[in-house]
Amino acid sequence: GREWHLVARPHGWPKAEDFALREAPVTAPREGRVLVRNLHFSVDPYMRGRMNDVKSYTPPFKLDHPMDGGAVGEVIASNAEGLAVGDHVLHGLGWREYAEVPAEHAVKVDASIAPLSAYLGVLGMTGLTAYAGLFEVASFKEGDAVFVSGAAGAVGSQVGQMARIKGASRVIGSAGSDEKVKLLVEEYGFDAAFNYHDGPVVEQLRAAAPDGIDVYFDNVGGEHLEAAISSLNVHGRVTVCGMIAQYNATEPAPGPRNLALVIGKRLRLQGMLVSDHAALQPQFVQDVAGWLASGELKYRETFVEGIENGFDAFLGLLRGENTGKMIVSLA
Ligand code: NDP
Repeated sequence: GREWHLVARPHGWPKAEDFALREAPVTAPREGRVLVRNLHFSVDPYMRGRMNDVKSYTPPFKLDHPMDGGAVGEVIASNAEGLAVGDHVLHGLGWREYAEVPAEHAVKVDASIAPLSAYLGVLGMTGLTAYAGLFEVASFKEGDAVFVSGAAGAVGSQVGQMARIKGASRVIGSAGSDEKVKLLVEEYGFDAAFNYHDGPVVEQLRAAAPDGIDVYFDNVGGEHLEAAISSLNVHGRVTVCGMIAQYNATEPAPGPRNLALVIGKRLRLQGMLVSDHAALQPQFVQDVAGWLASGELKYRETFVEGIENGFDAFLGLLRGENTGKMIVSLA
């Protein structure tokens, strides 16, 4: 089976030469493991950080080894109790066609409840990030005005809709194209949205939220964070979830110039990692399954077909070619 290896550490934007698609033998699963044929794997912004050789919350990808990440697939051989041929599982060995997965790292998923790809997005890691980041980290409460950046992406699109469902006074989103802005307002029920390419974020946000905001869910950093600090009301809260605007930067980016506003407004800026919030999983699945069934919560996925296009899918994600979760499909 084929698998993607990182062969050089990117400097700035990743280049095709930094990656190689290589052939690896497919063998019978060892004791306690299953052999999985991957059907979908996830490409995620955090993977850019793992391409650097720096200590972080997830270890860097090793050069000349298969990359990894979220994936769903079908068990085609089992050497583990509790998992049988034909079962669908969610696991962490993506970026490859066949994965030999330790049974304790495979979670059975039900294709009759939701399409398998949903376990990578709306019902998976990015959905839980939105849920935990809004309700736990930002301490969202009814009546809050919420601004989210990266609002047409996997995390952002869920944040805005969850805020609406739970009674936000106003939901504002920003995204990188007019088509995405239209989707936010017309399909996802945001009260206002803008294209951050159209002009300074600080001005567009002020116009979209004349009474200010109480919560900012940051997926982007940089100019967006600075603008949010300007618009935040007293006792406002920021979930610092991601700063994708600087993931390919080669120099450290300067912080918000207006950070001193944090004092007088008594703002709280809090970073998060979704892995800290696993305890919310049952409640998250129950709520989201209900909202999907009632039609209150909508989602999009962008599928890139074929393992050979895995690198292009990752690059496309960083460029904003996705609407909703970016997924590589190996059907
Ligand atoms: P998305 O589906 O949101 O895809 C990334 C999007 O980022 C693109 O579609 C693009 O949309 C936008 N983008 C790219 N460059 C820029 C830029 N310079 N300025 C503004 N927007 C940009 O990805 P995810 O939903 O998976 O992730 C969203 C964020 O959440 C990321 O920052 C990620 O690192 C973070 N995250 C953090 C987690 C945690 O535990 N802390 C867990 C999961 C995700 P557009 O067309 O609008 O520019």
